[in-house]
Amino acid sequence: MTIVFLITRLVYDTLQLVERCLSISMRNSERFFMSEFSFAPAPQPVISIARSTQLFPVRRIYCIGRNYADHALEMGHDPKTSPPFFFQKNPNNITETGGFVYPSHSNDVHHEIEMIVALHSGGSNIDVSQADTHIFGYSIGLDMTRRDLQAEMKRLGRPWEVSKAVEGSAPTSQLHLKVETGLINSGRIELRVNGTMKQESDLSMMIWNVSEQISILSEYYELAAGDIIMTGTPAGVGPVQKGDVMQGSIEGLGELTVTVD
Ligand code: MN
Repeated sequence: MTIVFLITRLVYDTLQLVERCLSISMRNSERFFMSEFSFAPAPQPVISIARSTQLFPVRRIYCIGRNYADHALEMGHDPKTSPPFFFQKNPNNITETGGFVYPSHSNDVHHEIEMIVALHSGGSNIDVSQADTHIFGYSIGLDMTRRDLQAEMKRLGRPWEVSKAVEGSAPTSQLHLKVETGLINSGRIELRVNGTMKQESDLSMMIWNVSEQISILSEYYELAAGDIIMTGTPAGVGPVQKGDVMQGSIEGLGELTVTVD
C-alpha cells in the first residue's frame, strides 16, 4: 500500500511541476511577444521645439517660490530673509493646447507668468559656474495656482500639491533652443489678461538667477535630462475667470496665449 501511495504521490507532484513550468513559460512568452506592462503606459509628456520636428520629453517640473522681490513682498514676505524653496508639479501637468480648464474646489485660481528653463543634462551638486551648460532651451510658462487652497494649506502647515500640481496647470509655449537664443538672464516678462497688463517685470529682477536655481536645486535633487524649472513669477498675480484670455510674452521667446475654459 505504501509503495502504491508513494508512486501516486510522485506522479502527482511531477504533473504539478510540469504544469507550473508550462504556465511560467506561457507568461514569459506573452511578455516577450506583447509587453512587459500590465496595461498601456501613460503617454510621455512633451514640449514641442520651435523650428524642429523633435520633442522635449519632460521628466520632472520644479518650481521656485517667491523669486521676484516685488512678488515676495505682495505675498507678505521679506525677499532678503527668505531662502529659495522649491516645489514640484506633475510632469503631465504640462500642456500646449492653448486652453486651461478651470479646476474644481477653487474660486480663486491665479495666473503666474514664468520663464521655463529646460535641461538636457543634470547631476548633483552642480557648481554655479557650470550650471548654464545643462540648459537645453527656454519657453514661456504659466504656473496656474488654486490660491485659496494654497492659503489654506499654508495656514494648516500642509503640502501645496492641491494648489499647484493641478491638471493642465503648466501651460507652455514651444521651447526655444539655447543655441539659438543664447543664455537668457534679462529681458521683459509680461502677462496681459483680456488685453489688460497684469504682470510686467524684467528677468534680471529674479532674486536667484537661473544658474543659482540649477545649482541649489542640484544640492537637493539629482537633476537629469528632461527636467524643467519654472523660474518664478513677478508681482501682479491675480484671479482668472472662465472665458479670460491670458497673453504672456518674454523677450526673445515670443508669446503664449491661453484661454480659460
Ligand atoms: Mn510660480
